[in-house]
Amino acid sequence: MITLSTASLYPYGLNRIFNIASKTGFSAVELMLRSKTDNAYFDSWDAGYIKELMAQNNVAVDSIHVPFEFEDNPNNFDEIYNLAKELKSKFIIAHIPRENQNDYIRWFEKIKDKNFETEPVLLFENVHIKERKEKPIIPYENIGQLNNICFDIAHSMRSGVDTEKIVRGCKNIRQFHVSFWDGKEDHISLVTHEQDIIQIIQNQNADFCLELCPKAFENITDWNNVAEVLKENLTFLKEQS
Ligand SMILES: [Zn+2]
Repeated sequence: MITLSTASLYPYGLNRIFNIASKTGFSAVELMLRSKTDNAYFDSWDAGYIKELMAQNNVAVDSIHVPFEFEDNPNNFDEIYNLAKELKSKFIIAHIPRENQNDYIRWFEKIKDKNFETEPVLLFENVHIKERKEKPIIPYENIGQLNNICFDIAHSMRSGVDTEKIVRGCKNIRQFHVSFWDGKEDHISLVTHEQDIIQIIQNQNADFCLELCPKAFENITDWNNVAEVLKENLTFLKEQS
């Protein structure tokens, strides 16, 4: 399965994002849930509305990413879980906590060993190691010990660790967030750096979720450019899976 993260096109509304996903050849998306203060907060949480978008565009919601505010106040996981269940999503994605996120660490410790026997399954995503940010509580060398992982390639590349070696050592990667880090920006298009990415994802039996940032597009306001970048990346990922 190859999906598009709705976060890749966050300047747009969800209706347009589902439409673009469909027109550029994606059969599924990862839905980024929005925080209460974000534009389109309500739309991302409205199961009825999302189902309409799914039906109109023939696009599934394969995974759901918890909102950023969840890390400050992780008290509504049940609501997220039920939404994912209603949308028939396979995965729920949440970040590995950083050392200063006490409430989030408490939630993480309680849930991390839970066995999700049926879908949706909770995947923990690696975050980047960055100056002036607290470290993630699970070092990169140890993430293989978690039950299920969404491995973000750009976050790892940016962290100054041996991404290829870590991926090879992990048997628990269920999905990749695929994008490139060019030394300055992460979540950059894959196609100009195909060789680096191929070495990381070859022979991996996992889903790929294309997760770009607006800077990955030469011009996010130009529909033709957005479509072209998405199609190129999708074609590349299809060749690898
Ligand atoms: Zn990611």
